[in-house]
Amino acid sequence: MAEHNSYQYIETAFIHGGIYGDERTGAVNTPVYLTSTYKQDALGQDRGYEYSRTGNPTREALEALIAELEGGHAGFAFASGMAALTAIFSLLSHGDRILISSNVYGGTFRVLDKIFGRFGFRYTIVNDDTPDAFKAELTEDVKAILIETPANPLLTVTDIRLLAEIAHSKDVLLIVDNTFMTPYFQRPLELGADIVVHSATKYLSGHSDVIAGLAVVKNHELAEQLHFIQNATGGIQQPFDSFMLIRSLKTLGVRMDRHAENAEKIATYLSAHIAVKKVYYPGLHGAPGYSTHSKQASSGGAIISFDLEDEYSVERFFTGLKLIDLAESLGGVESLVCHPATMTHASIPKELREQVGITNTLVRLSVGIEHSEDLIFDLDQAIKAAGKQ
Ligand SMILES: *Cc1c(COP(=O)(O)O)cnc(C)c1O
Repeated sequence: MAEHNSYQYIETAFIHGGIYGDERTGAVNTPVYLTSTYKQDALGQDRGYEYSRTGNPTREALEALIAELEGGHAGFAFASGMAALTAIFSLLSHGDRILISSNVYGGTFRVLDKIFGRFGFRYTIVNDDTPDAFKAELTEDVKAILIETPANPLLTVTDIRLLAEIAHSKDVLLIVDNTFMTPYFQRPLELGADIVVHSATKYLSGHSDVIAGLAVVKNHELAEQLHFIQNATGGIQQPFDSFMLIRSLKTLGVRMDRHAENAEKIATYLSAHIAVKKVYYPGLHGAPGYSTHSKQASSGGAIISFDLEDEYSVERFFTGLKLIDLAESLGGVESLVCHPATMTHASIPKELREQVGITNTLVRLSVGIEHSEDLIFDLDQAIKAAGKQ
């Protein structure tokens, strides 16, 4: 195991953090413990493991790693981002209320609306991403606030530090979905959040080959509660997928650097294009959330949304792309586009969708790590095709 005081930078922690390698054999990689159970040496005497739903060494290595990367007390690995969010929501009870921003991931809205609502745990959607708008909704029954910043798909930004102060003045938990930024660009716990959650399916995995969720909590009390829920409800990450994520996290820094470098070039290109009505990217100087975002994150990330001018056809734009695939998801090495109104945000009612700006002409682009010139070439010819009548 690496001495944790032998390095200072997160780039090194990606590779040496958590529980590095294997103490018994010296293997530099974490072994995959494909076991459901563990031999006990005598009645009531185990070696720290009893059953893999409760604990598995490969999953633990991943959990220790994400806890270290986010600067938290403990990490938890789940079978998906939604399983992680479901476990976090299970910290709340009947009669409690959660505030969510209007741009939250569609699945997050759906589980609150369609599942937790049936158990009497309510939500309020806050339509404006400013901390004051959340403050105005802080009724007595509010026990948690969940935000994404930048949020999906309009990349709106919320001031995490300010919102944490507001939340804590009323003993409310602040949960931040950090999927778009990763701990490389933004560490919400350091800004005052209580829980960070990831769809690790996205950048943390980075290769579009694993479905995974991670959660990190800031203190012992929340860790005990979330571990209890993780074990009781069982939405755990499997050992092999835990290994895959540890492997992916080793290259997170270099991948994110390239993702962001490409995204900046593409955002600049799109902003100058006459066919593009509006570009949403918090890394662009002058973008609405730019100043808040640059206080709390070190990069604009690599998700860009844009609205085509009315005379261009989104349908022809999508079919015109030759390199960039039309697909759900984001954060992989390959660039992907999607149509939020009919794909990721289809579970949000139409009126609410349009009210927040998720129009029919909105395109979301997850910028991969290909050469930026190839990506711009593909976008350029698809935009031309979209303009042909
Ligand atoms: C994809 C996503 C989720 C859901 O995660 P899954 O791994 O698909 O279950 C939650 N939040 C955000 C921001 C996402 O992009």
